[in-house]
Amino acid sequence: MKLILATKNQGKVTELKEMLKDIGAEVLSLDDLPDIVMPPEDAPDFKGNALIKARHIAEATDIIAVSDDSGLVVDALDGRPGVMSARYGGADATDKDNYTKLLKELHGITEKDRSAHFACVVAFVDPANDEEITFDGKVEGHIRETAIGECGFGYDPVFIPNDSSKTLAEMTPKEKNAISHRAEAIGKLVRWLKERKY
Ligand code: IMP
Repeated sequence: MKLILATKNQGKVTELKEMLKDIGAEVLSLDDLPDIVMPPEDAPDFKGNALIKARHIAEATDIIAVSDDSGLVVDALDGRPGVMSARYGGADATDKDNYTKLLKELHGITEKDRSAHFACVVAFVDPANDEEITFDGKVEGHIRETAIGECGFGYDPVFIPNDSSKTLAEMTPKEKNAISHRAEAIGKLVRWLKERKY
């Protein structure tokens, strides 16, 4: 099987390729298809955005596309940054801009009220069989008051999963992949692909 990961986020490409290793597929990413222009991610939820990306790539290439849409949902901020996670600090915001804005907004809020979760929806679109399916994953935790850790990407340096004393950015890729929202959703996809003998 050959599939394309419908994302330009290098952090995600690395994580997804690692997780898809044991299905023996040839895994391409958008770096292998530099001419493809991605559509705006303007759906109101993670599932809608994941489908926008996977449908677009499957249509443009006629190859199976796998996308993920994910983000951080903070309870004290009514679910923000949510689907805006990548652009929270502005259109060209860096990961640091994004989490710095978040930490400012949560300033003065004590640990018990800093609960949050990462959510992920993975979409699989097979243009040959006209088949599409989505899988979801979630990791619960809270937002730290300052950033710490060098691994991972995005909001990893400020997010401490439940039952952990470390942020996701202090974990090795293996430790993060054992608990992450993306790993849970991809794990469901991999089990489904194996069952279907895709
Ligand atoms: P997407 O590319 O539209 O799905 O944007 C997802 C954004 O959510 C990323 O750019 C990060 O800011 C954030 N995000 C999603 N997953 C993670 C994660 O595993 N760690 C840290 N931040 C994440």
